[in-house]
Amino acid sequence: MLNLLGTRGTLPVSGQNYVKYGGNTTCLMTTVSDESCVIFDGGTGLTSLNKYKNFKEYHIFLSHLHWDHIVGMPIFEAFYNPTKNINIYLENKVEMASTDILYVLFKPPFFPVPKSKLRADIRINLIDSGDQFKFGDVGVHVADGNHPDGVLMHKVFLRDKIILFTSDYEHGSENDDFLIEFARDCDYMIFDTTYTPEEYSGEGGGMPKVGWGHSTFRYGIDFVKKAGVKNLVLFHHNPDYTDIMMDEMGILARREFKNTFVAFDGMQI
Ligand SMILES: [Zn+2]
Ligand SMILES: [Zn+2]
Repeated sequence: MLNLLGTRGTLPVSGQNYVKYGGNTTCLMTTVSDESCVIFDGGTGLTSLNKYKNFKEYHIFLSHLHWDHIVGMPIFEAFYNPTKNINIYLENKVEMASTDILYVLFKPPFFPVPKSKLRADIRINLIDSGDQFKFGDVGVHVADGNHPDGVLMHKVFLRDKIILFTSDYEHGSENDDFLIEFARDCDYMIFDTTYTPEEYSGEGGGMPKVGWGHSTFRYGIDFVKKAGVKNLVLFHHNPDYTDIMMDEMGILARREFKNTFVAFDGMQI
């Protein structure tokens, strides 16, 4: 089972317009055992794991380092607990100074914690597109997506299903053909549908969002149909989109692809 702890993109939101789908930013989690779990992205959804004290070993895959995908990390209590083992996996890129990510995230003036105060046993693992991992019954394959500054997609193999998590993804590049092959015959694709088709193109009257790194439900439907994916999960919700707007997006998408689900914080697949 994959737990969707945060499904919002770009910015966390709260208030009465966001009760149904929630406002935490990106974080997914699946358990390997009573003491071990695999986490995808460290948005504010990550902090909902603070109440579960049983885990001793965490494997945290970061799709990329944009704020909405890491902002929950400094508030994640496991980093301050000497009994915890934390493995962080992120793409091997020179410009990120990848091994220094903890300094940047936790250190003053951004947050008042020098690295020496982090008590957990923390390992940073630099990974590349094409790498494959196995934790108990959970498998993870990573591959490059299409997003400014790069992004890793994660194909998650659970005991009874295969789920592709594209995190942030913009359609329209040569990467699309690869995505369709990578997604082929998955049971679920969790796809970046930050914009409505009209907002993306600018037909709604606003600034076009071409090149901003995100996609629409229409492209998500196109991809799942071409790849033979059974179910589509709309994800990385726009912070401007209220529950009513997300309901409408779900209705429009289901007219074109029946097995479409709108992700919400707390959803389980
Ligand atoms: Zn994002
Ligand atoms: Zn991003």
